[in-house]
Amino acid sequence: MTYKPNLGTVTGDMYHILKHFPLLKNIPFQEYYNGKLSLEIDPDMDTEWGYCMSAKDAMCPLRIAKWEIGIAGEFPTRRRYLVTLVHELFHLYQMTVLKLPTPNHGKRMSTYMSTTAKRQLDKMLRRETKWQY
Ligand SMILES: [Zn+2]
Repeated sequence: MTYKPNLGTVTGDMYHILKHFPLLKNIPFQEYYNGKLSLEIDPDMDTEWGYCMSAKDAMCPLRIAKWEIGIAGEFPTRRRYLVTLVHELFHLYQMTVLKLPTPNHGKRMSTYMSTTAKRQLDKMLRRETKWQY
């Protein structure tokens, strides 16, 4: 069985994650509404499950004009999809809150993914299972 996210579920899950996950809740979510942050489902992605990138303002190269998060069209499980989404949102946190020029997979990120993010994701998935019955 595979999990296929659509733009609606990704937007809803991103909203939940940015609202409830420590650290990630500091991401300026209003950027999503003013068009500076965009989301994309990419069914052709085959070597990776997601990406997060920034684009510089063409007129003013020192300023970041927008960010984009891309998610693959198909995952082995909903958990795998959520882990990918949180992974990309952590990169967004690195670029928007920490103001890093490029995202990285440093110690801080691996610690976050294996402790805080894992705990929050377990909680989120447990709650979903509960609502299914
Ligand atoms: Zn990454």
